[in-house]
Amino acid sequence: MKQKDLLALVEEFESPLYVYDSEKITSQYQRLTNAFKNVNSLRINYAVKALSNLSILKLFKQLGSGLDTVSLQEVQLGLKIGFSPDKIIFTPNGVSLEEIEQVAQLGAQINIDNLSILEQFGTRHPKVPVCIRINPHVMAGGNSKISVGHIDSKFGISIHQMPHLLRIIENTKMHVNGIHMHTGSDILDIEVFLYASEILFETAKHFKDLEFIDFGSGFKVPYKEGDIETNVEELGQKLTQRFNEFCKEYGRELTLAFEPGKFLVSQAGYFLVKVNVVKQTTSTVFAGVDSGFNHLIRPMFYNAQHRIENISNPKGRERFYSVVGYICETDTFASNRRINEINEGDILCFYNAGAYCFSMSSNYNSRFKPAEVLWHKGKGLLISKRETFEDIIRNQLVVDFEKTEKQKVTS
Ligand SMILES: *Cc1c(COP(=O)(O)O)cnc(C)c1O
Repeated sequence: MKQKDLLALVEEFESPLYVYDSEKITSQYQRLTNAFKNVNSLRINYAVKALSNLSILKLFKQLGSGLDTVSLQEVQLGLKIGFSPDKIIFTPNGVSLEEIEQVAQLGAQINIDNLSILEQFGTRHPKVPVCIRINPHVMAGGNSKISVGHIDSKFGISIHQMPHLLRIIENTKMHVNGIHMHTGSDILDIEVFLYASEILFETAKHFKDLEFIDFGSGFKVPYKEGDIETNVEELGQKLTQRFNEFCKEYGRELTLAFEPGKFLVSQAGYFLVKVNVVKQTTSTVFAGVDSGFNHLIRPMFYNAQHRIENISNPKGRERFYSVVGYICETDTFASNRRINEINEGDILCFYNAGAYCFSMSSNYNSRFKPAEVLWHKGKGLLISKRETFEDIIRNQLVVDFEKTEKQKVTS
C-alpha cells in the first residue's frame, strides 16, 4: 500500500487505526494454492485466530478457503458468514468435552489432541468422524514460545502414545478420517518440516479410512530486515511429490490440508498511530504514541520486531528513537530504532500488523480498541468501528450498596 493512501485513511478514520490490504491477502492465498497446484485435492483452512473480523472471513470465503478454528465462538463466526460446516475444522487445545460436542453438533470437523477426550468422545459418538492431532516431537524452528512440537509441549498426542491411541480407536470403534500436526509457528527449515511429515505419513498407515492429512502451519514471513521467509514454492514442490507418492502407497487419493494464519494476513496489515509526545531524556529520545500493548502486544509478548516508519516525514533525517505507548506500564514497541525524524502529531506505521495484532487487543487502561479498515480496490471500507465509552461499560453492573444493606436488616 502507498503511504499517501495510509495517511488519507488516518485523516478519514482517525488514529489508532488498523488497515488490511485485500489484494495482499488474496495474493498470499493464491501463492500458496499455486505452490501446491499439483496436489489432487488441496484444502487451505485459514486460521481465524490470526485476524477474526467477519469481513476478513468473508474475503476468505470468496477465495475458496476453509477455516481453522480454536473455539466454539470462532466456529460460530464462520457459520455466521456462510461457511458450510464441513469447510470448518475445529482444532482446540485443552477445551471441555462439552464444547467439542457442541461444535460436532454444528457439523464442523473435530480434531482431538488428547487421549482422555478421545476416549470419552469416541465412546459417546463413535459415528462422528474425528481427526487426530499428533505431536511428532520435531522442533520446526522458532523460540520456545512458538514451537509446539517438542517433548514438553501441551499440544497434540505424542507419537510415543500410538499403542494406546490405537487401542482406544479399536475399543470405541470410532471413525478417524484425518490426521494432523501443527509443529510450531515458524517453519525455518523445509527439511525439518519434511522430516516431520514423514512421521505423519508413518502414523497415517495405521488408519484405514483417512480422507485428509493436515500439515498445520508455521509458514514464516519476514518482519524485519534479514528475516527469512518460508520458500513455499520449494516446499510445495517437495511435499507434493512425497504426498502423491504416499497416496499411491496408501491406495487412495487424500486431501492435503494446511491451516496458515500469519502467512495469509500478516503482511497485509498496517497499524497506524499518532505521536503524542517526543520526550528527550538523558539517555534516549522517546516517541510516545496514542497506543500501547492494549492494541499491539506482540513486541512485548514475543519480542516481535515490527518495522516502523514515520510516514508523515519519510524523507526526514534519521535518528534513534524508542517508540513507546501510553499505557501505565513499560510498553516499549521498539528501542533504539532508526526512524526518520519524528515530530509530535506525526503518523507512524507498524508493518506486518495483520496477524495476532488486533485479535490480541484488549481494553486495558479502559481504552477503546482501534477501528479496522479494509483497503479494497482503492477504497477504505470500515470493517469494525472504533469503540466508545458505551462499549467499555456495556457488561458492567453497579452494585447498590445501600439497598443491599437495607435488605440485610429487614430479612
Ligand atoms: C494458530 C494456529 C495456526 C496458525 O498458525 P500461523 O503461525 O499463524 O500460521 C494453525 N493451526 C493451529 C492448530 C493453530 O493453533
